[in-house]
Amino acid sequence: MRIDEIRQRLRAAGAKPCHEERVLRAWTQARPLDDGERNREHVAPKQLRAALPALTAQLQALARLREEHASDDGSARLLLELADGQTAESVLLPRDGLCVSTQVGCAVGCVFCMTGRDGLRRQLGSAEIVAQVALARARRPVKKVVFMGMGEPAHNLDNVLDAIELLGRAGGIGHKNLVFSTVGDRRVFERLPCGVVKPALALSLHSTRAELRAQLLPRAPRIEPAELVDLGERYARATGYPIQYQWTLLAGVNDGDEELAGIARLLAGKYAVMNFIEYNAVDGLAFERSSAARAAAMSQYLHRHGILAKLRQSAGQDVAGGCGQLRAQAAARGARAETGRRNPVSFALRARPQEDIHGTEERSTSRGKCQGQGRSEGQV
Ligand code: SF4
Repeated sequence: MRIDEIRQRLRAAGAKPCHEERVLRAWTQARPLDDGERNREHVAPKQLRAALPALTAQLQALARLREEHASDDGSARLLLELADGQTAESVLLPRDGLCVSTQVGCAVGCVFCMTGRDGLRRQLGSAEIVAQVALARARRPVKKVVFMGMGEPAHNLDNVLDAIELLGRAGGIGHKNLVFSTVGDRRVFERLPCGVVKPALALSLHSTRAELRAQLLPRAPRIEPAELVDLGERYARATGYPIQYQWTLLAGVNDGDEELAGIARLLAGKYAVMNFIEYNAVDGLAFERSSAARAAAMSQYLHRHGILAKLRQSAGQDVAGGCGQLRAQAAARGARAETGRRNPVSFALRARPQEDIHGTEERSTSRGKCQGQGRSEGQV
C-alpha cells in the first residue's frame, strides 16, 4: 500500500487537507487517528470519523509484530508480518533509532549478506515502510530512522522517498536523522537533492578496488569508487551532512594495507565519515570478521591521515538474526513444519554449500545478519 492510497481514502471520506495531515500525523506518531477530535476547531466531518476505525485496522494490518528478539545492548530485532503474509524485519536501535526494510528480499546479491542470497520477493509500498515506524513508535520513542534493513532503497526509490517525506514532515523526524543507505545508484544522486526532505546519505563502499567491489556487490551499479565518492561529496556539500561510508570488515578480503591506502586517498579532504562495521558471520558463507586489533589499527591509520573513522558494532549481536536472518529462520521453520507434515521422519534442513568467491579458504561460521548496509548500533 502507498501513502497516496491513504490520502485518497481520506479524501473520499470528506477529509480536507487539514484533516488529512492531522490523520497522517497521528498515524506516523503512533497516536489514535482521531486524536485531537476533542478540540472543537479540529472536529472532522462525520463521514470521515466513521471511516477511521476501518482505516485504523487497515494500517495496523500493514505490519504486524510476529517475533521480537531483545538484545542486551538495548536493541531489539522485530520480525513483521505484512498484509499478504510476507515478512520483513525492523530493528529497534539504542538511543531512539530504528532500522527499517524497504523491500522483501533484495536484488543486489551482496555475497556476504543473508538477504541478498534469495533475491527480491517484492517491493514494500511507502505505507508499509512508514508502518514500521508507527509500529516501533507504539513500543518506544523513535527519533532517527535508517533505511538499512532488507532491500536496496535505490531499487524502490518512489516508495522510499514518499516515506521519507512523510516521516520528515508529519512524522516530525529531523531530516538529517533520516538516513538513506545505498550501494550507490545514479538515480539516487539525481533525486535526493530535489526532495523537500533531504535525508542523510550512507554509501556502502566495502572496497576501493572496483573489481573487488563488483565481486562483493555483484548487481550494484558499476560506478567506480572514485566517482561514487565524488557524487557523495556533492550531496554532502549541498545538504551540510557528511556522507557515511559503510565498510563491512571481512578478514583477508578488504582489511589489507592496500585498501587502507585507497581509503586515505579517496576520502582525503572529503566531508565524510568512514564507518567500519564488524561482520557477523552467515551460515554457509566463507567470510570472517577482521580482528578487533586490525579494525582498531585501520581506524587509527585513517585518523592519522585526517579522516574521521569509527568502529561500529552491529546492533543485537547476541540475538541470532538480523536483516534477512530472522526471516530466513521463520521460513525454515515453516518449511520444516510443512515437510514434517508430509514426511515426519525424513526431514533434514540442509545447509547451502559454502561459497568462496575470492579464493579464501572455507571457514565455518555460526551467526548471520545482513551486513551490507551496515546497520550499526553506534550510527544513529
Ligand atoms: S547487503 Fe543490502 S544491498 Fe546487499 S544484498 Fe543485502 S540487503 Fe541487499
